[in-house]
This record gives sequence, C-alpha cells and structure tokens, in this order.
Amino acid sequence: MSDNGRQEYRGVGRALLERFGVSVWSDVEVDTSRGHFRGIILPRSETADNEHVVLKLSSGYNVGIAVSAVQRITPRGRREAHYKIPEKQFPVGKEKPNVTLLGTGGTIASRLDYRTGAVIPAFSPGELYSSVPELADLCNLETEKLFGVFSENMGPQQYITLARRIGEEIAAGVDGIVIGHGTDTMHHTAAILSFMVQKPPIPIVMVGSQRSSDRPSSDAASNLINAVKAAAQCDIAEVMVCMFGPTSDEYGLLHRGTRVRKMHSSYRSTFRTIGDVPLAIIDPKRIEYLRHDFHPRRRDREVVVNTAFEEKVTLLYYYPNMHPDVLDAVVEKGYRGVIIAGTGLGHVNKPLYPALRRAAERGVHLYMTVQTIWGYVQMYVYETGREIMELGVVPAANMLPEVALMKLCWALGQTDDRDEVRRIMLTAVIDEITEREPYNGYLVFQGAIPEVQAFLRTIKR
Ligand code: ASP
Repeated sequence: MSDNGRQEYRGVGRALLERFGVSVWSDVEVDTSRGHFRGIILPRSETADNEHVVLKLSSGYNVGIAVSAVQRITPRGRREAHYKIPEKQFPVGKEKPNVTLLGTGGTIASRLDYRTGAVIPAFSPGELYSSVPELADLCNLETEKLFGVFSENMGPQQYITLARRIGEEIAAGVDGIVIGHGTDTMHHTAAILSFMVQKPPIPIVMVGSQRSSDRPSSDAASNLINAVKAAAQCDIAEVMVCMFGPTSDEYGLLHRGTRVRKMHSSYRSTFRTIGDVPLAIIDPKRIEYLRHDFHPRRRDREVVVNTAFEEKVTLLYYYPNMHPDVLDAVVEKGYRGVIIAGTGLGHVNKPLYPALRRAAERGVHLYMTVQTIWGYVQMYVYETGREIMELGVVPAANMLPEVALMKLCWALGQTDDRDEVRRIMLTAVIDEITEREPYNGYLVFQGAIPEVQAFLRTIKR
C-alpha cells in the first residue's frame, strides 16, 4: 500500500481529498447535496471506481459518497485502523475434542482489507485464538479455508466440495465440524448438506454472523463460541445452524438444517426454526435440549455422502397475474424441475394452467410449496388446488421453498424417473416434511425471550 495518505484514491476522488486537505483515516464531516455524514475516510479499493469516497460511520456501516455530491469536507481528526490480528499458539490438549472449522467466507470470516476491498479471513487457529480465546477451553481446533465467498456466490461446486470434505473429516476421526458461512444463503447450504451428508456420526454446525467483528454489536464471537461448543460437546449428530437466539445475546439456538431460514435482513436474531421447535439452546455454559428426536452422536465413522445435483431446477415465486410465458421460458431453456411458491395453501392463477400442463407433458417435475413459509400446502381445500394437482403439480407438504429447491436439485441429480423423484421428494430425510407444526409456534418464535420461553415451557419435550 502506498503511504501517501491517499491510498488508492485516484482521479476525481483523489482531487477531492486534496482540495479539502484530508486523507485516508481522516475523521471528517461531509456535507453533501444528500445530507450530512460523519465518519472516517477508508482506503479505496484498487479495483473500485474513482467517483466515490468511502466513509466508515460510527454505526459501523460503510457508505460510499458520490464525489459529485460533496459540497464540503471538514476534518475533525484522524483515526487510523489496524487490522492485523496477532497470532498466538492455539493450546492443544489430549483430553479436548478435536473440531475442524471449514471456512467458506461471509461476514463471520471477514475482516475487510480496505486496500483491495477484499475480505481477509481471520481464520488460522492462532488468529482465532487471539481474537476468541474461549475457543481453546472447548476443543483443539483445526481450520481450513475452502472458499472465501459471500454466500450469494455459493453453488453446486461449493456444496459438493463441502460435502466431500465433511466426509473426509469424519473418516479422519474429528469429533465435530463447524462451517463458517455467509448468513444470506446459509439455509440453502444447510438444506443441501442435510441431503448430501446423511446420518453423520458427529455434529456438523453451520455458523455465520450478521455483523462483522469490527463492529461493537458484532455477533461473530458469540456465535462462533456457541457453534464450536455445539460441535465439540453436543449430542446431536446432524447438519445444524447455530445462530443468535433472542434479541439479546443471552444464548444461541441450534436449528435443524432443513427447517431453518434467515428471516430478517439485519437483525442478529435472524435465523428461526420454521414450523417446528429448535433443537437446543446453547451458551458457553450450557446445552439445553429442546427436543429428543434427534440423531445422537456415535463413535463409528459411518456416513452416507451423496453429492448428486441437477442445476436445471428453479424456484418460481408466484404473484398475481404472473404470465404463463415465464414458465414456458423456463421449460424452453431446458429446466427439468420447478418449485412453485404459491399463494395461500398453494395456488396460482388459471392462465398459468396451460403452461403447467405443457411443462408436465414435457416431463418437467413440478412441486408446490407455500410462500406463507409457515404451514402446509393443502391442495384439496379449493377447486384451484385440485385442478393444479390434476395438471401434474405435486404438493410438497410443509417443505420450505428453498429446501424443496435444494431437494429437487438433489433428487434430479439421481434420477429422472417420475415416481422415483416423487418418492425421494416426499420421503423426509430429516424433517424437511413434518407431520404437524407446533400449535401457534409461528407466533412465539417471532417474538422476544419471554414469549419464547413461555412457549417452550408449554410444549412436550
Ligand atoms: N452477504 C453476506 C453473506 O451472506 C452476509 C453475511 O455473511 O452475513 O455472505
């Protein structure tokens, strides 16, 4: 990095900083045609445009301000940030369980390299030990960075690599696996891994963070401690998600991989178990099991890894007046499977019927889920539902739309036989379809701690 105080700002951006006598790491007030901002000028990415200046606000968020909108910059001081995390030797102990942390990227793995805009993983055991020393009380930790992507960039290649690495780690004898992952699509990956890696003998715990570790309200450390504790000590040998539970950071929740969903774009307590009760409450001192119908930890090293995946599957979110050409286009493009997220109990409008029939006649596999997220597809209630079923659309019970998408990719990766695909889709691997949802569960699990706990007291465990 050049040391001229205007790191990587070029062109008009650089001229602007020079005009007001400020530089990278200056604490400034900026008046713009769009309002007033206070923050620290961050170095500019080498690859970014020249037309914006980036400020870190006291909230922790970064904003890009268009150079053309800036009226005045007033310097208020200078606050240089240091992002090097010191490495300390991770203490190893024979008596401690062995956990492997596989990194895929996302906010949890990131410190921003302000020079390149790239995300640097704070990921070696030594770095993690110096930032989160509590981890050393829980396990011997090995880490491996598989990818460094934000989770919108995850896809079949990453899913398959992950599934295989999990299989290898199990064979190598680890006691638990943690997967660091961006939160945005963590529920997609949790679902596909639940299908690709069946009956593992150890916990496989996905974890992320909504707020990066350079922000005071970051959930990175507490989520990581809870996830590592789950991997090292909990008795549930399944693919799970471990994230912030209530609105405060009192505990994390362990969610089953096929019943979990990101439900809020910015809250830390964004992951909820949908249509069911979470598996456990977890904090550094306790693991409180909320149910007992889980696969328990085993000593053997058996696991079924099946990485089948068909990419030509899509999810159509129905909206009133969706035109049939949308579905026709998908079929034309060679898609072999379509999950529909229908309205209410699983409906689409009548003009779509001929397109559904055409799709079914072309051998496209069609499944219905509900965009209400909570509840079951019930296609026998209204004539609409019955007609849609007659066209060849199969109701997918209470499978979440994203889970159904992942499952159909997995099923069609294995076979094109209609009955066999149907059998795979409708036979629950691990609770992606359940017999019933807890009474009023959808009300309390959106709430804060008192409601959740009151509810938990009422359910049969
Ligand atoms: N966009 C990020 C991701 O999903 C957000 C996060 O990690 O929370 O990778």
